[in-house]
Amino acid sequence: MTPSSTLISELITAIQNEINANADEVAELDRAIGDGDHVVNLQRGLDAVAVIIPELSQLDWSAAFMKIGMTLMSTMGGASGSLFGTLFITMSKAAKDKELDFSSFSDVFMQGVESVKKRGKADIGEKTMLDTLIPVANCIIADANKNIELAQALNNAKASAITGMQSTKDMIATKGRASFLGGRAIGHIDAGARTSQLMICTIAYVLLSA
Ligand code: ADP
Ligand code: MG
Repeated sequence: MTPSSTLISELITAIQNEINANADEVAELDRAIGDGDHVVNLQRGLDAVAVIIPELSQLDWSAAFMKIGMTLMSTMGGASGSLFGTLFITMSKAAKDKELDFSSFSDVFMQGVESVKKRGKADIGEKTMLDTLIPVANCIIADANKNIELAQALNNAKASAITGMQSTKDMIATKGRASFLGGRAIGHIDAGARTSQLMICTIAYVLLSA
């Protein structure tokens, strides 16, 4: 299935705007328990993805995911660059020759998240982006199996992203730079969990208003 050119452009632009609007807060989060560059890395990646919107609009979802993944991988830098890159590259492979609807997408997204776990040698509860990504993947798989309405499923995905992001606050980190801080990381939300939540909520918002 080919993404409609307006949808892919709307999604990317909305994500860029949301990350830019919350950039100061995310920078502060990453300064507290990381090295402060996460949001700048992500903004650089999103700027590069925005440049190729006309090209992405011509591709099917699988090819578009590949192009987005390669672009993030080669422009972002940081741990998050290779992890978000891996997410999209695996989603591209999983989406190949598939019609993307909510049910098939939930499987594609789960495969992407599994590849992030492998690449980062991390799992839920380690105070990373995975504390947002894993609950959302589980939530949309469960909802796809229940056959509930798309709007309800999108609202559930938003809620699970927010709960997952917030769960990082009380964790100690066992992966990433924050793991060097031990108990001093407690009380701070993980920056990658926050940007993942912002992006997922934005995608859901755009799809809900489409
Ligand atoms: P770096 O830590 O190299 O400076 P960024 O600042 O761009 O990279 O990204 C940091 C974010 O990456 C963290 O907030 C965390 O969410 C995520 N992260 C770091 N290491 C891992 C890992 N091993 N698995 C999953 N996510 C990770
Ligand atoms: Mg950093």
